[in-house]
Amino acid sequence: MPVRDGIVDAIGHTPLIKLRRASELTGCTILGKAEFMNPGGSVKDRPGRQMILEAEKRGELKPGGLVVESTAGNTGIGLALVANARGYRTIIVIPDTQSQEKKDMLRLCGAELVEVPALPYSDPDNYQHVGRRLADSLRKSERNGVLFADQWNNLDNSKAHYVSTGPEIWEETGGKVDAFICSIGTGGTIAGTSAFLREKKKDIVIGVADPRGAAMYNLFAHGEAKMSDGGSIAEGIGLGRVTPIIEGMTVDKAYLVSDEEAVPVIFDLLAHEGLCLGGSSGINVAGAMRLARDLGPGKTIVTMLCDFGTRYQSKLFNPQFLRSKSLPVPAWLERTSAIKPPFAKS
Ligand code: PMP
Repeated sequence: MPVRDGIVDAIGHTPLIKLRRASELTGCTILGKAEFMNPGGSVKDRPGRQMILEAEKRGELKPGGLVVESTAGNTGIGLALVANARGYRTIIVIPDTQSQEKKDMLRLCGAELVEVPALPYSDPDNYQHVGRRLADSLRKSERNGVLFADQWNNLDNSKAHYVSTGPEIWEETGGKVDAFICSIGTGGTIAGTSAFLREKKKDIVIGVADPRGAAMYNLFAHGEAKMSDGGSIAEGIGLGRVTPIIEGMTVDKAYLVSDEEAVPVIFDLLAHEGLCLGGSSGINVAGAMRLARDLGPGKTIVTMLCDFGTRYQSKLFNPQFLRSKSLPVPAWLERTSAIKPPFAKS
């Protein structure tokens, strides 16, 4: 691997990992792009970098400038790290329901955190609207520019995946990829990656795995952005409306994946393959397995391993929390060791 010129250059080129059990169970080759290995620990480092570099090119940010974003956390972490490396400050507006681990990481990156109540998008005080208003007001006093990254509407988000994720998957599979599937937060990953892969291979199958309580399953399966019943503990995914990023995008296969299906996949990946992943990766891998069963054996299917499980220790890996959601608790999380350390001096 060549020397990288700082973290900005170290984003991307993540390993594409064969998921052994998912592959064995379906007869397909299911590959996961290890996005948790990015410097900020998630898939959102890619758009974080792209949105800042493009704003620089447009002259919107000068040294000492300010980056503002509304985010469930990971985009904020990516933005904060890139901003630090490029000489900008960061203000993040985050719903207070997001995991403590992500908020802690943002703070330790030096981002200023504005926690707001989690309200529906239709509410004028939803975090996305609060972030935009905050950026607009700060623009009046900031002399070196304010970038409101605006990941749901900023096409530099999907461009990040068109110029990096897509080409990497194509190269790493040597063009032997039959399908790509992932879940949707902003849709940047699916829109950018599928646009690139379709240019290379017209008939590649593009799938969406949607958690309960979001609208992407109904949008792509039935043409109407209607929320499905229930909810999900997966953070960072679950879009409820059509945004400029996904407008006009077509999807070949859409799956509604419940937490009851996805959470055991997360625990299996950890117990049997040593992959410690967050909730959206479980939705993605479960979706890839459904797609594999639909397509039949022998296909190569790529999905995204979006972030580390440690980011959700207090939820996804917390027996009490899991029980409160009627989700299974893996035995090892409750194990207390009975081993007595064999000290030399007893
Ligand atoms: N998984 C996680 C953990 C995320 O934070 C995000 C982004 N919010 C996604 C998946 C979805 O990515 P995208 O915004 O590109 O749809």
